Amino acid sequence: MERTFVMIKPDGVRRGLTADILAIFLRKGYRLLGLKLMRISRELAERHYAEHQGKAFFEPLLAFMTGGPVVAMVLAGTDAIATVRTLMGATDPAKAQPGTIRSMFATAVTENVVHGSASPEDAEREIALFFAPGELLAGPA
Ligand code: GDP
Repeated sequence: MERTFVMIKPDGVRRGLTADILAIFLRKGYRLLGLKLMRISRELAERHYAEHQGKAFFEPLLAFMTGGPVVAMVLAGTDAIATVRTLMGATDPAKAQPGTIRSMFATAVTENVVHGSASPEDAEREIALFFAPGELLAGPA
């Protein structure tokens, strides 16, 4: 079992896609260890996307991510980090494989509906940024 951090971004929540996206992950078989609807502060967005600091799209990305509520979750499953990213599709929806979440629901790299951790290090760092230990189940219920 591996844990990963997944977020439905503000465009996904605003467009009413929360239930559809959650259903894809849950029907696939991942177990939910934590789930919450929240607003992201600028500070949290900066820390989450620290690797992109200094890039041209950094400020627009922060404005987008803090512009509306998100749904943050921790999912567990076999190879969850890589398989969630496969299910999400490429960062640019135009390059995402048919059937992936970004292919089905997004049209722009700036508003691509979902986030999923890219590596085990990122997953644990992002889980700790968004959830207090007491907010997470220790294992699948
Ligand atoms: P991800 O792991 O697939 O989300 O991709 P990255 O970590 O590379 O980028 C983080 C987020 O920044 C992406 O999901 C996009 O929303 C945004 N992003 C990435 N590359 C670009 C870009 O070239 N231009 C813009 N405007 N946004 C980008």
